[in-house]
Amino acid sequence: MIEVQTIDLHYLGRPLVIASYVLESNDGLVMIETGPGSTLTAAQSALQSLGYKVEDVRHVLLTHIHLDHAGAAGWWARQGAHVYVHHFGARHLIDPSKLMASATRIYGDQMERMWGEMLPVPAGQLTELHEGDVLKLGGLQFEVWETAGHALHHMAFVLGKIAFTGDVAGTRVPGFSLVDAPTPPPEFDLEVWRASLDRLLAADFIAIYPTHFGRVENVAAQLQGVRVLIGEVAEFVRERMVAGVTAEQTAVEYREWYRARAMAAGVSEEAFATLALSNAPEMTVNGVWRYWSKR
Ligand SMILES: [Zn+2]
Repeated sequence: MIEVQTIDLHYLGRPLVIASYVLESNDGLVMIETGPGSTLTAAQSALQSLGYKVEDVRHVLLTHIHLDHAGAAGWWARQGAHVYVHHFGARHLIDPSKLMASATRIYGDQMERMWGEMLPVPAGQLTELHEGDVLKLGGLQFEVWETAGHALHHMAFVLGKIAFTGDVAGTRVPGFSLVDAPTPPPEFDLEVWRASLDRLLAADFIAIYPTHFGRVENVAAQLQGVRVLIGEVAEFVRERMVAGVTAEQTAVEYREWYRARAMAAGVSEEAFATLALSNAPEMTVNGVWRYWSKR
């Protein structure tokens, strides 16, 4: 039985938004997802309370390079960890300036508060991943699955009958059955995402670990729920585009629909705020808008 420890990074002071997972190996700790730079203090104190030191983290696996998953990777590299990421994403970790510039266009003066610093990962401490790679790390054997759809450069890490799914299996708030799916620009792709979900479904995992948030044991329900939801969201946006509704107005209407859907599922106000933090409605609409614009 492999023990996975869940670290709550308390993103913006809120629990259950962004997780980092750590596993013991014969070669130190393997960390899956680092969270952003803004959560490094929380990450360090959580590790400490589990009895580990920062230098114990030897391997950092990233599902993709979005800031909420990978922003702190360079800091961990500076402490000596080796970083693993999709080959499309590697250059943006070696030189995060483009990634940070595009995030700054979206978040403006909120950048520092939301994401903190993103340090570069030295090329010598970075391994580029490809579909089908097998990572043998201190006795643990991770299969690398390309699972695009949320992002083109998204990987899932499969360890026996469990998988670390980043954002491809959607998101959820522990304690509620509602699933959610972040569909941000620029790479959201409905068909590709569905194919990734079908692959995960066929694997019959006993548990998956989405980054937002925590171990999920009703795996099929989560994956099927996301599969349905991304179709609904795509259709919601497409209908309005066809009718000549602006992106801004679509975002307003989407926010209402999104909220009503959560409330109908019995999600508390508190949990809704948590959900909306890992998946801003404006980003959802922009991502889907862009997807249809290319077609
Ligand atoms: Zn993402």
